[in-house]
Amino acid sequence: MDPENELDELLDEVERKFCRDVSITDTSDTGKGHPLQTYYTVENVLQQKRKVLVWFHPDLLVSRCCPVFIGGSSYPVGIGTSTSERSCDQLRCLSCDFRVLMFDHNEWDTSCDYLFFRNHMPDHQKLQTKLKKRRGFRAYACQCSWFCCSELMDLSGLTQLKWICGRHLN
Ligand SMILES: [Zn+2]
Ligand SMILES: [Zn+2]
Repeated sequence: MDPENELDELLDEVERKFCRDVSITDTSDTGKGHPLQTYYTVENVLQQKRKVLVWFHPDLLVSRCCPVFIGGSSYPVGIGTSTSERSCDQLRCLSCDFRVLMFDHNEWDTSCDYLFFRNHMPDHQKLQTKLKKRRGFRAYACQCSWFCCSELMDLSGLTQLKWICGRHLN
């Protein structure tokens, strides 16, 4: 069974179970004259469905950029897709396992080297010392690599960077 069908089945099951619980509670509570409807609204069922998703399918609540774009400050950040060219703001580095930091309207000073990032990541204040204001550019860095650009670029073409989209919450 493909994952989507499996999910549908699961959600149907939740709905069935939930509705059954409703009727059981309904019967037992009728005598007390409680207005049951208030508890079993559509939102209630949806909420329950969402809980099931979180428990069993956490992957469905997050998305990854595909392709992964990085871009200058004029490009909006968010989840990038082939039809939505957004610059990923959840980058992680596979080499050093650091989150990639971004600085809008900045570029790295040419004196930057491996040791600088090695010693100062992720201390914003220390990193600032080698950032230079440059309109439209966005400077990126992890603990082992740095980059800056003004255009939108597909990360797969920048093989020197071992960065991946670390997932966005939906
Ligand atoms: Zn992303
Ligand atoms: Zn790195």
